[in-house]
Amino acid sequence: MSNMAALDTLERPLRDLRISVTDRCNFRCPYCMPKEVFGRDYSFLPREELLSFEEITRLARIFVANGVEKLRLTGGEPLLRRDLETLVSMLAEIDGVEDLAMTTNGSLLAPRANILKAAGLKRVTISVDSLDEAVFKVMNDVDFPLDAVLEAIEAANDAGLTPIKLDMVVKRGVNDADILDMARYFRGSGHIVRFIEYMDVGNTNGWRLDDVVPAAEIISRINAVWPIEPLPANYPGEVAERFRYVDGKGEIGVIASVTQPFCGGCTRARLTADGQLFTCLFATKGYNLKKLLRAGASNAEIERYIRSVWGARDDRYSELRASNTIPLEKVEMSRIGG
Ligand code: SAM
Ligand code: SF4
Ligand code: SF4
Repeated sequence: MSNMAALDTLERPLRDLRISVTDRCNFRCPYCMPKEVFGRDYSFLPREELLSFEEITRLARIFVANGVEKLRLTGGEPLLRRDLETLVSMLAEIDGVEDLAMTTNGSLLAPRANILKAAGLKRVTISVDSLDEAVFKVMNDVDFPLDAVLEAIEAANDAGLTPIKLDMVVKRGVNDADILDMARYFRGSGHIVRFIEYMDVGNTNGWRLDDVVPAAEIISRINAVWPIEPLPANYPGEVAERFRYVDGKGEIGVIASVTQPFCGGCTRARLTADGQLFTCLFATKGYNLKKLLRAGASNAEIERYIRSVWGARDDRYSELRASNTIPLEKVEMSRIGG
């Protein structure tokens, strides 16, 4: 297989693969899986449509041979997929994987942190949208208690799934009053809180620009209380802008996908639980890798297909958002995995 990273039409290399392992979730965050849409009647993928662990690992191996260095498990809620640690251990064995991480809502993590670490998971990103119990419940919309997620953060820390990132999607008028609380609570903990601009992913969350709190505003609110200064990016194409507290109490990040898009450095491919390859979070069309796998394609054929899809990639939705007037049929976040 080729060792050269595939380049797209804007010369962006393929470096990251986000693997969604399920489209199901035990939360109903209104910005992602609003209850009215993802209700009792919603048809999630049937089991046979999901890629098996062997199929995921085979594809991941091909992606890694074509430039991918970082793998991230996501969903839906990845910990709803049975025996996830088995998949982790299979992925951890692939030569050339520099980073193996998972994004989770934390609800099921506490009892499994050690076993995931032992299987080869390096670190976790845990979504925490508020430290106010009532607001947290509005954000998950299933009455899930905050304590269990705080316990998961402890458990992940004890297991060494570090550095832990804590992602907070900020929605104006819903949880933006909790920005300073999040900063205060985790200052000095060694965990990195990242404030994320609410995005117009999918078609179901009723996104409006007025709901977005621009990253610049988040930064200035924090800076007014605890002065912060910018840090250089860890690597080219890092999506979060990094800051450190001037008093040495650690680091925070902001992800300004709406107000300061970063498509120029976007090196991510996304694989859905049913084996569709997406080249952008806002893509309207996926490429069916499952079909190839199940039709008996060879590794070389699959590699050729992936390289041709990536080679034709010209996505830069966020940069074009301002001029986009036609609503698109975009893929849902719970399917593509964020
Ligand atoms: N269930 C896991 C979780 O919540 O961490 C993993 C999947 S979730 C789709 C991945 C990330 O996408 C989460 O941090 C979530 O907050 C974020 N997300 C979902 N919808 C979003 C939106 N409309 N704007 C910004 N971030 C969003
Ligand atoms: Fe579930 Fe994560 Fe989406 Fe919330 S953001 S509904 S936890 S997939
Ligand atoms: Fe990457 Fe698409 Fe997001 Fe731009 S809009 S940063 S191309 S995922």
